[in-house]
Amino acid sequence: MPLVNLNELFDPTRERRAVGLFNVAGLEFAEAMIEVAEELNTPIILGVPERFFQFSRLENVVRLCVDMAERARVPVAVHLDHGKSFDNILRALRNGVSSVMFDGSSLPYEENVARTAEIVRIAHTMGVSVEGELGYVGRGDFDPTDPSFYTNPEQAADFVAKTGVDALAIAVGTAHGIYKTTPKLDFERLKSIRQKVDVALVLHGGSGVSDEDFQKAIACGIDKINVFTEISVSVIKTVSEATSNCSDWIRVTGEMRRTIANVVRHYMTVFNTGLDHDCDL
Ligand SMILES: [Zn+2]
Repeated sequence: MPLVNLNELFDPTRERRAVGLFNVAGLEFAEAMIEVAEELNTPIILGVPERFFQFSRLENVVRLCVDMAERARVPVAVHLDHGKSFDNILRALRNGVSSVMFDGSSLPYEENVARTAEIVRIAHTMGVSVEGELGYVGRGDFDPTDPSFYTNPEQAADFVAKTGVDALAIAVGTAHGIYKTTPKLDFERLKSIRQKVDVALVLHGGSGVSDEDFQKAIACGIDKINVFTEISVSVIKTVSEATSNCSDWIRVTGEMRRTIANVVRHYMTVFNTGLDHDCDL
């Protein structure tokens, strides 16, 4: 099965379900994720987070994922997640990713447009898809009552037209990390963005959102959902429990892989049934 970009994963007739992006933080993560995707015969996106490069070389992580994707039995996209550095995006492209995210969400709007459009021009010559971000998917400081945190539907349409992105990460009430209170998704806003924008819509900060809300979000137009915190929390719990009575790291990695597979299997199953639900507003 070839390595694919995001456009090959999203059916424009929207008959497919949302595709999950799961962040890779080591060999066992990528292996467990592809294994579950094959078991469920479901496409998957391996997310390589830019902040991981503080600890591991970009070339090593990207090439490992690309090689595994090329040998998988289901379509796999390898996507640079939250790329903020132009250099890292070019290095990821050179090493074979099929998709990149340029996260210019903290920049002034016009600068976000200009820089995203430049990346789109470069990536598209290589057949690589690009995800942009508009609105602010915060970490901890998210204020659900402040409209400036949310994506404006008119601005989303303008952003897509001016940049040519293939996918757009939108802010409709989710945040990265662990939620202090249960997230409340703004489905009305999501539906309005969906009506104005015809590229894939992406939900970040998926950990902590209820299964019902995911399914409703998919029915309202979400095509891709990013999940990492839930995997991270479960892995840390498994490793701390396992290492309290075991000093064999190989055995611990086995338990870690099982945990990653269980979390990914749960989310993939939920994402695969999203379109069976209603976007009842
Ligand atoms: Zn994100």
